[in-house]
Amino acid sequence: MPADEPRITALVDAMTLQEQVSLLSGSDFWSLPAIDRLGIGKLRVTDGPNGARGGGAFIGGVKSAAFPVGIALGATWNPELVREIGVALAAEVKSKQAHVLLAPTVNIHRSVTNGRNFECYSEDPVLTSELAVGYINGLQSQDISATIKHFVGNESEIQRTTISSEIDERTLREVYLPPFEAAVKRSRVWAVMSSYNRLNGSFTSEHGWLLNTVLRGDWGFDGVVMSDWFGSHSTAATLNNGMDLEMPGPSRDRGDKLLAAVAAGEVSAETVRQAVLRILRLMARTGALDDHRPFAEAADNRPEHRALIRRAGAEGAVLLTNDGTLPLASGARIAVIGPNAKTAQIMGGGSATINAHYRVSIWDGLATALGEAALIHAPGCASERYHPTFRGLFKAEFFANKSLSGTPVHVGEQEDALVMWLENIADGKVLPGDFSVRLTGSYAPVQSGTHVAGIRSAGLARLLIDGKHVAESWESWSPGTAFFEEGSPEMTGEVVLQAGRTYPVVIEFAAKAAKWLAFSALGAGISRPLGAAGIADAVAAAKAADVAVVCVGRTADWDGEGQDLPHITLPGDQDALVAAVAAANPRTVVVLQTGGPVEMPWAGDVAAILQAWYPGQEAGNSVADVLLGHAEPGGRLPQSFPVQWSDNPAHSQDPEVYPGLDGKVRYREGVFVGYRHYQAHGIDPLFAFGHGLSYTSFALSDVRQGGSGTDATVTVRITNTGRRAGSEVVQLYVTPAAAPVPRPRRELKAFAKLHLAAGESREVTLTLGRRDFAWFDVAARQWVVSPGSHGLVLARRADGSDWSGSVDLAAQNWSAAER
Ligand code: BGC
Repeated sequence: MPADEPRITALVDAMTLQEQVSLLSGSDFWSLPAIDRLGIGKLRVTDGPNGARGGGAFIGGVKSAAFPVGIALGATWNPELVREIGVALAAEVKSKQAHVLLAPTVNIHRSVTNGRNFECYSEDPVLTSELAVGYINGLQSQDISATIKHFVGNESEIQRTTISSEIDERTLREVYLPPFEAAVKRSRVWAVMSSYNRLNGSFTSEHGWLLNTVLRGDWGFDGVVMSDWFGSHSTAATLNNGMDLEMPGPSRDRGDKLLAAVAAGEVSAETVRQAVLRILRLMARTGALDDHRPFAEAADNRPEHRALIRRAGAEGAVLLTNDGTLPLASGARIAVIGPNAKTAQIMGGGSATINAHYRVSIWDGLATALGEAALIHAPGCASERYHPTFRGLFKAEFFANKSLSGTPVHVGEQEDALVMWLENIADGKVLPGDFSVRLTGSYAPVQSGTHVAGIRSAGLARLLIDGKHVAESWESWSPGTAFFEEGSPEMTGEVVLQAGRTYPVVIEFAAKAAKWLAFSALGAGISRPLGAAGIADAVAAAKAADVAVVCVGRTADWDGEGQDLPHITLPGDQDALVAAVAAANPRTVVVLQTGGPVEMPWAGDVAAILQAWYPGQEAGNSVADVLLGHAEPGGRLPQSFPVQWSDNPAHSQDPEVYPGLDGKVRYREGVFVGYRHYQAHGIDPLFAFGHGLSYTSFALSDVRQGGSGTDATVTVRITNTGRRAGSEVVQLYVTPAAAPVPRPRRELKAFAKLHLAAGESREVTLTLGRRDFAWFDVAARQWVVSPGSHGLVLARRADGSDWSGSVDLAAQNWSAAER
């Protein structure tokens, strides 16, 4: 809703300096303080982006609807669908009684190994921008604020809280800033989150050029800039450089420190006032200003959200290859093989984790459609990064010391052995950094034999099974990448167990000081390695079936926050599993679930490959819909899939380019990210950006160029020439004229997705503007269109061509600040 400016001005002027300062940091992890004296309510935020987790911890908590992750939405190429999802997410945010969603994530897929690519849309700024605009418009149409993040240069999780992303201004303006710029200029986004990293030396949370010059000055942003969680590191510098809200609370650098800084003249009262006005504006826009309800969260499991998620999952599924085996013929006996067959992979890891209402596995999806009698199962091998969590209730005894000594001050229950403690631990009876806890539960093995158990912890931890020490990250604790880089590596040990018995499991944990992010966490799990028998059983299942559907990929422990991927090969023995199954049954269909590309040495040996990403709680139903032909595989790749990791622009002999050196990561490839890189270097990807097959066929015809100068248009007729309904994405690339700077061979500038019934035909017009031809001249702080002939290519993938034309342009330039 529009903010009542006279009202918020009157409010800020009625506030004491202390009250004003209180609104510039959180009061706890997810909310700001209310100011009862002035009737000012409480603003609440929630993660984001694939659901609304609510005000609890990262793990567990009130249930929510799990929507497709960012890259799955990226693959839909459908801003209107993403807008619908934004509207649905707003309802989810409201069910958690929050006002602000910490989303969307619009960092660019620079490196194929970025742990958080799953959360981001694409390697391309135009595709990312269009989807971000849809998402934000949907959310904000319901008076829920988006918080576009992470501003900017957070393209890797390695040392993310300290690293300096070294990015030249032209690359920033042309590749990394555009989604944020579109959000401000086209969606009037209400909040922006600064990133953890530094940008060219300074933390983005105190980067005056980024926040004051570009965001507020050049683009006209009038909303709130908040820090990423614990990503604010100073008092005067953050505020003076444009960062309004320090999160989370309680404050570390504001409060009394800010009052002192004002008294010392380091921060002016007017700077504080302006920042508070922006917070009040956000509260007015979202209704938080008058929200005095007692806090209550609800799980709102709506049928219309379930249907939307199921549809969106299929719209993002990319059919990479198909020899005609898909859609599956009816009556076929199907072997459903692989680690993801019965384990639903629905989302990535980290702060985007939510407690989904439910999780439909691919097995469940196929069984619901066909009945279990048509299916055979074999897991084949494992894909986990950590051993599967001990499930079942644990008794939790908390001690108000770090040595488990004395009498517990609180005894509670813990749902399983994966837990994060943020605040209000043990009902507030212990202090976050000064407690220990003993978890007591049990484990009943399904099979006899040697098991491997593991434990990882942000804090010190040890694991005992049947009274024996099996693994510890206590004496041998060392920093690893688990739990946002605050945790240890997983420490493992072997234990021989017998089926039919139930063994006591005890986990002891003691808090320890955090490096950056103040929380404690623990994960413990166990598995019995399948070994060679796993693949042999899978081969037997494949031979006994008409078709083998092999469900492989990664998990939320791989595609997650706080760590990058070590490589892009499928984890564990999955490549061997696919190869063995393909050798046993020529009708082998691979369903891949990852947050980005993997190397596929078997790509030419299988009948079909479907990339299904992490499509949310309806995962198995969406995949089954596509496999069985009840839905079109509507997705197109939002990221180039290289043959091998070393083909990627961020793969370099120079560690400064990736993973970073001496606290810096240098974006030396400049604007040559994604397909721009592959094309400039003549490297053929395995599957190009924009690629994806349909179950029907389309013809493009009657192409007409129109418009004048940089306001060019291309109109095309698209006809569904097949016998079933389907969708196609037409993509318009510009081949820029020669310029004084190196320019990519092609850049995506416009696209349209059409859903057409069999035989249906429709025209669509794609429109360009001056920015679509321009490059950024850093010295002049100007956008420049170089004179000459600029090529236009209509295609259905970055390296394809259905039509080409050109437009002759005169030189043009305009200031970065012109809106
Ligand atoms: C993430 C943000 C998230 C925040 C709050 C951080 O670790 O980088 O994306 O919104 O935590 O959970």
